Amino acid sequence: MPDRAISRISVDEARALWGGEDVFSLGKKAHAARLALHPEPVVTYIVDRNINYTNICACGCRFCAFFKAPGQPGGYVLSATELADKVAETVALGGYQILLQGGMHPDLHLDFYTGMLASLRAGFPGVAVHGFSPPEIVFLATMEGLSIAEVLTELKAAGLTSLPGGGAEILSDPIRSRVSPNKCPADAWIGVMAEAHRLGLRSTATMVIGLGETIEHRLEHLSRLRDLQDQTGGFTAFIPWTFQPGNTALTVPEASSWEYLRLLALSRLFLDNIPNIQASWVTQGPMVGQMALYFGANDFGSTMIEENVVAAAGVHFRLEEDELRRLVVKAGFEPLRRNMDYTRRDG
Ligand code: SF4
Repeated sequence: MPDRAISRISVDEARALWGGEDVFSLGKKAHAARLALHPEPVVTYIVDRNINYTNICACGCRFCAFFKAPGQPGGYVLSATELADKVAETVALGGYQILLQGGMHPDLHLDFYTGMLASLRAGFPGVAVHGFSPPEIVFLATMEGLSIAEVLTELKAAGLTSLPGGGAEILSDPIRSRVSPNKCPADAWIGVMAEAHRLGLRSTATMVIGLGETIEHRLEHLSRLRDLQDQTGGFTAFIPWTFQPGNTALTVPEASSWEYLRLLALSRLFLDNIPNIQASWVTQGPMVGQMALYFGANDFGSTMIEENVVAAAGVHFRLEEDELRRLVVKAGFEPLRRNMDYTRRDG
């Protein structure tokens, strides 16, 4: 393993930290690790918009308040004009990336996706498309009878820039089979990311806590990400957030903000090979988002000109770019625009 700014801790050491350290001492260690990786007092962010091209989904995850089952009232697929209008509005607001995700629509085939990407590339060549989480790729590959590599190659050729790390939830099959029994298992999620990285598509990695998992499931998740990152180096960032139970079919105690901050700090210490950790103000609100910058996070995520999935669970935090920058300054850092790959974005 190459030399790193922070030293590697084992799973046993991580377990001992979780069990033996209070939230503040964990946070202090994580912030020291953050400063070792990013000594400059800068917090990055991106100006983008989440666009859900469809909410029709055959998967039916128990924690999801967003989807409509095929045939259920309220389902939609964005038309090409609606999609173009949303992207044009994003550009007018200073955005330069869209996060494009849907449900698993049983009637949308690969040509729908490649056509959507091609029209975006033709109409908005300056807008990066961060799109399609691993479960969508697995669903599409299965439906089309193609390999993961074939689907990703087609999408990349049509204009896909990078992959979001959605659909990871907890990368431990006992939890997945309880909360999202129709979604791809952990091995398949990791397999899509491995293939994407091999093809030169970088990605983020996510984690949702509060799904009834234990620290052992969380450590399994973090270990799987760290192991893959050792092989590919393709993850740009890790983004944990908390399950929002509103309007969902899952009844579990909600993870507190303290639990979130503890997990965030542990992640910074464990994921020595993933350079960036995002604060989740979308689920935690701006104040906990600011606190997260002292618990291992060095990135404030996205302005999220539009966000539908968390909003469907009844959580509506919104930040204009000016407000996001003000929060970062108030927390003691310099805000800096970035691209998906964390290169600096001027302007
Ligand atoms: S989380 Fe995604 S895959 Fe699961 S039901 Fe919702 S839209 Fe479908």
